[in-house]
Amino acid sequence: MSRFLKDRYAALEAYTPGEQPRDMDYIKLNTNESPYPPAPAVVAAMSGEQVENLRLYSDPTAKGLKEKLAALYGLKESNIFLSNGSDDILNFAFMAYGQNGAIFPDITYGFYPVFGDLHGVEYEEITLKEDFTINYEEYFGKNKLIVIANPNAPTGISLPLSAIEGILKSNPDGVVVIDEAYVDFGGVSCYQLIERYENLLVCRTFSKSRCLAGGRLGYAFGSPALIADLEKIKYSTNPYNINRLTLLLGEATVEAERYYQEKCAAIIETRTQTAKALEGLGFEVLPSDANFLFARHPKVGGEALYLALKEKGILVRHFRKERIKEFNRITIGTPEQMQKMIEIIKEIIQ
Ligand SMILES: *Cc1c(COP(=O)(O)O)cnc(C)c1O
Repeated sequence: MSRFLKDRYAALEAYTPGEQPRDMDYIKLNTNESPYPPAPAVVAAMSGEQVENLRLYSDPTAKGLKEKLAALYGLKESNIFLSNGSDDILNFAFMAYGQNGAIFPDITYGFYPVFGDLHGVEYEEITLKEDFTINYEEYFGKNKLIVIANPNAPTGISLPLSAIEGILKSNPDGVVVIDEAYVDFGGVSCYQLIERYENLLVCRTFSKSRCLAGGRLGYAFGSPALIADLEKIKYSTNPYNINRLTLLLGEATVEAERYYQEKCAAIIETRTQTAKALEGLGFEVLPSDANFLFARHPKVGGEALYLALKEKGILVRHFRKERIKEFNRITIGTPEQMQKMIEIIKEIIQ
């Protein structure tokens, strides 16, 4: 760190992304990427000509992609914000709506407290219940920025729509961000509530269910007024926030909706099989609506299992936080990858 850095950033503890080691060919089950490639039409949309077009700026209004998303979800373009990954939207939300403080669960996406610290937003972390579900009634009447991942990460557990509506109703003076990064794997989206609640912002991403993590494309649904706020911040920081190639691939992705629904169904099926196999080996597996499982074994510690798997070429995500340190978060891969993992876990346990 240099002596030039502003004081307010000096103590900032940055987010730690899942490791991406290059020392061997791992089965990568640690960052919730899709094991499947993008749809063939998405791959075909890329060409040398498109790369040559990179000399031109991208469309800052992203009109083509907004039109396609609006048609798919039955919304207006004015309900949609597009960004360079959904982390960007979460960043903007803390920047824009944190003046009265923020509130989110103690066990959730690790980026929320980082954004809070980055923007000097005071935040309260609400303890998950004993069974790792969100105690949603504790969010009633706070009138702060409320941020909830649904399904939650790293637990994979969903909140019902009625709970989210309760939070929205009781917080008319606070923005409620529902982070739906994993909603396509079995959760229920609340996006249709944006018609009724001007304080609802729904964040989504092409990274997980749309097999496009490296493309960096996120989007949000909300009332036209909320979307206008985010556009204002975007045009004050980086108007060309999404590159031309990603916009192009995003449009092709929306058109290939069926392909992605099939892949999500395949992942859900593999998740069911994997959970059964892990339970058969004595694991406690939390009920997941996401493309990962959160599991602990009564005899093998969380860190020990993570390290033993890594040595065998399988990467999973381990968190050191006290209450979840005996768990590992395991991304759902292909059935073959899961079988291999189960075999190796069997050896480790014995
Ligand atoms: C992966 C993830 C995101 C961020 O996704 P982007 O790649 O930035 O679009 C946001 N929220 C949660 C809960 C996630 O797990």
